[in-house]
Amino acid sequence: MNCKEALPLIHEYLDGDLQGSDSQRLKEHLISCQACHALFRQLEKTDAMVRMLPPVRVSETLTAQIMSGLPPVKKRNSWMDFIRKHPAVSVAVVFATVMFGSFMSMWNDDTNLMVKGSNLQDVVIEGNTVTVPQGHTVKGDLVVQRGKLKVEGEVTGNLIVIDGSLNLASTAHISGHVTQVDEALGWVWYKLGEFVGMLSH
Ligand SMILES: [Zn+2]
Repeated sequence: MNCKEALPLIHEYLDGDLQGSDSQRLKEHLISCQACHALFRQLEKTDAMVRMLPPVRVSETLTAQIMSGLPPVKKRNSWMDFIRKHPAVSVAVVFATVMFGSFMSMWNDDTNLMVKGSNLQDVVIEGNTVTVPQGHTVKGDLVVQRGKLKVEGEVTGNLIVIDGSLNLASTAHISGHVTQVDEALGWVWYKLGEFVGMLSH
């Protein structure tokens, strides 16, 4: 062992953390090295003196004074970090949080039939019944809210029925997915999906 190796071991020994073979090797070095032996004695004395000092009580005002005297720690804005790392999730969460209330009131207030699609000239609306007649094609998605949807013809996109009923005739052909949303929560998810879809376009 050289002196460079011995120094940290001396500190460990004085802390009471040195065990086994390290302790033995340090002992051998201290016997053979006068410099380290002197240092060891000095540190041992200092250590003993420190241990003899009465415990010091620090007043709370002193702690506060020291803490206030320190330069301010630059606060990391973890919320901003999160937004930077997950922009899409953050937008969705904020959107959901802010809009949830208004969705709920929309859900409760809105009792009118709503039909949405990019291609509605082949759709027949009578009262609250929406029909895609046989031999007719709706190109793209068709969304019907609070109504009865009857499909005899073709829909090339997705079919979404919100709080309504769906009747698919044997002649009906839907190329996309058929989704029925019956509950307010489902409605929120549907609107959220629509919103996220809007962002990604
Ligand atoms: Zn030494």
